[in-house]
Amino acid sequence: MSKKNQNKINSYSFFNCIEKNFDKASRYLSIEQGLLNQIKSCNSVYRIHFPVKIGKNIEVIEAYRVQHSHHKLPCKGGIRYSTKVNQDEIMTLSALMTYKCAIVDVPFGGAKGGIKIDPQKMSEENIETITRRYTLELIKKNFIGPGIDVPAPDYGTGEKEMSWIFDTFSSIRPGDIDALACVTGKPVSQGGVRGRKEATGLGVFYGIRELCQMKEDMAYVGLNTGLIGKKIIIQGLGNVGYHAASFFHQYGGIIVALAEREGAIYNKKGLDVHEVILHLKNTGSILNFPGSKNIKNTENALELECDILIPAALENVIHKRNAHRIQAKIIGEAANGPITPEADEILEKKGIIIVPDIYLNAGGVTVSYFEWLKNLSHVRHGRMEKRFSENMNAELLQVIETTCNKKISNEEKKIILRGAREIDLVRSGLEDTMISGFHKIRDLKKSLKIDNLRTAAFLFAINKIVDSYEKLGIFP
Ligand code: NAD
Repeated sequence: MSKKNQNKINSYSFFNCIEKNFDKASRYLSIEQGLLNQIKSCNSVYRIHFPVKIGKNIEVIEAYRVQHSHHKLPCKGGIRYSTKVNQDEIMTLSALMTYKCAIVDVPFGGAKGGIKIDPQKMSEENIETITRRYTLELIKKNFIGPGIDVPAPDYGTGEKEMSWIFDTFSSIRPGDIDALACVTGKPVSQGGVRGRKEATGLGVFYGIRELCQMKEDMAYVGLNTGLIGKKIIIQGLGNVGYHAASFFHQYGGIIVALAEREGAIYNKKGLDVHEVILHLKNTGSILNFPGSKNIKNTENALELECDILIPAALENVIHKRNAHRIQAKIIGEAANGPITPEADEILEKKGIIIVPDIYLNAGGVTVSYFEWLKNLSHVRHGRMEKRFSENMNAELLQVIETTCNKKISNEEKKIILRGAREIDLVRSGLEDTMISGFHKIRDLKKSLKIDNLRTAAFLFAINKIVDSYEKLGIFP
């Protein structure tokens, strides 16, 4: 979208949007304005230009790393590769990270990074060169390290890039026993944790599932409780969107539409997400999926009839020009900042429940935290206790069988005996975090009669950061 067009759909800069939400929430607090200003502002902004040889030419690459808050260290946040990367965007996303971490009780300050490139138009070799050079630039200025600032994947990046970052960091810091913890979202073979890849999408699923259990909330939007049979639209079939779609599909949601860059597909009876992905791999596009209707203008998919709309691609996709036409009863912000402030107001007036990004897509940073802990402890989660739990469970079963004089079936035994593997621990930790995060926000909304979950989420986060600053004191 051109800058001119962007201005038409959103009167605020992206960072202003967050400030607006922050100010709305902080009205519920009586806290010194100076401290609120400190919490709101970005602590460090690092803007880099570096040269890279692409073919026979030298290209100058624009990149950023922003550390929004140092109230907890390390700072933490993804790195995105996109031609839309700019300072305002990275500052905003780093601020969102601070609030996100506070809500899901992850002891990090917020950060974000970005490189202004289009990875889809570049060879893997060039992306690797740029990633390694970017990492070197971060090392030079002490903007990366297990206790300083820990990047992760975001839009346009994944496991591969995180591996290159780790490899570059550890080459410069040989012998640093904690080097693996300098970045998360790595492949499992390179110190990653099982369950990180799908964590954000799974977190989105857990958050929306929890909302759908709430009788009062479902009655407010005229829906029955439970996820089964709910009609869902998902925008973006990347890391977050694909995994969220898979979990919704697996647990009874009906995916009526999927939207990608090239267009969207619709089938009111539901789309099989895995079949769509196969089709995408075979044809290079989601369009012309058997049994579905093509929608040429991908943005139109957001306006179709559904119960739950999940924007999982980019920011500002729901704005003052299309918000009136949104028919969903619930919007789950899987992407960061998909709704502009003006659209937010329109949607609220329409009675739509919005589950905000600063809570809903926090599954990624939650599991990144588990990965960081694994890297610092140098042991796989569950390795020490798995067999011990299995032995204890076996003894317990034997006591039950003897006391009750009843044999437990082999099938039942299999379920009860099993000790937790890393993936079990990661998923249960994530589920617990997302469920308790949801109730923290919802309870606050109810007790203070706050209009929406977003304001409640910001208020919860600000309160927590204020508390941290007050206990730390301000260094002279
Ligand atoms: P990704 O690059 O893996 O996927 C993005 C997808 O969106 C791609 O498939 C792309 O083709 C599609 N897309 C781009 N433009 C589109 C358009 N106009 N319409 C429809 N689809 C479009 O990125 P991701 O990691 O899935 O991130 C998606 C969003 O989630 C971003 O806002 C990101 O900041 C946020 N997020 C990601 C994570 C994470 O762990 N990856 C964590 C928290 C938040």
